[in-house]
Amino acid sequence: MSSGTDGRQAELRENLQKARDRIGAACRAAGRAEDSVTLVAITKTFPIEDVRTLAALGVTDVGENREQELKAKAPDTSDLTWHFVGQLQSNKARSVVRLAQVVHSVDRKSLVSALSKAAVAEQKTMRCLLQVSLAEYGSAEAATGTSRGGVTPADVPELAAAVAEADGLELGGVMAVAPLGADPDEAFAALRAVSSRLRSEHAGAGWISAGMTGDLDAAIRQGATHVRLGRALLGTRPPLG
Ligand SMILES: *Cc1c(COP(=O)(O)O)cnc(C)c1O
Repeated sequence: MSSGTDGRQAELRENLQKARDRIGAACRAAGRAEDSVTLVAITKTFPIEDVRTLAALGVTDVGENREQELKAKAPDTSDLTWHFVGQLQSNKARSVVRLAQVVHSVDRKSLVSALSKAAVAEQKTMRCLLQVSLAEYGSAEAATGTSRGGVTPADVPELAAAVAEADGLELGGVMAVAPLGADPDEAFAALRAVSSRLRSEHAGAGWISAGMTGDLDAAIRQGATHVRLGRALLGTRPPLG
């Protein structure tokens, strides 16, 4: 084994320990049990060797935001739970259903239909999270009109019903990305409110996927059950090519 590989292993071990410490501290500060938060390692742009190293260090949940990369990594690491966290085109639904166990980015009815059809064909149950838009909490996005996608809080009940009724799908909860310029506590508190309304109708939909490298502490304060960490574990990503 080359020293470069050893160096990378040591780096990932140290990053993982720091991330776990950070999650633990945030849980304690919030009066929550440390095992109430699942770490999902977002491995986009990093090689499959890094996925294997993280798995050897005890990471069980990994995620990608593009189908191409999921396809490149998941088949050879199928002992892991794979999460799909990116914008999903309906024509990629079958592939994602085949390779992942959870989709965090369900944002429209046409995608629900595509995922359901794919899950039935694959004889599989897909856990689906509704991606909620928190754009109204981000001053920058509100000003420019750009958005990171997702269903508006007002439209959550209707989309939730569609997932709950669809064959092959299981409604797992909600996901969000804090918008640019937002106070993450304010944005994630709004997500928590959406989640509790959702759970009053769908008792099993308790997951809250929120928090990335920059805002995981706020997300845990506001009830996140799943944090999605990329840079904190793997380091700075090369710019997207
Ligand atoms: C890349 C990505 C993450 C991880 O972001 P970091 O800032 O690297 O922790 C989380 N969620 C989604 C949807 C992503 O695309």
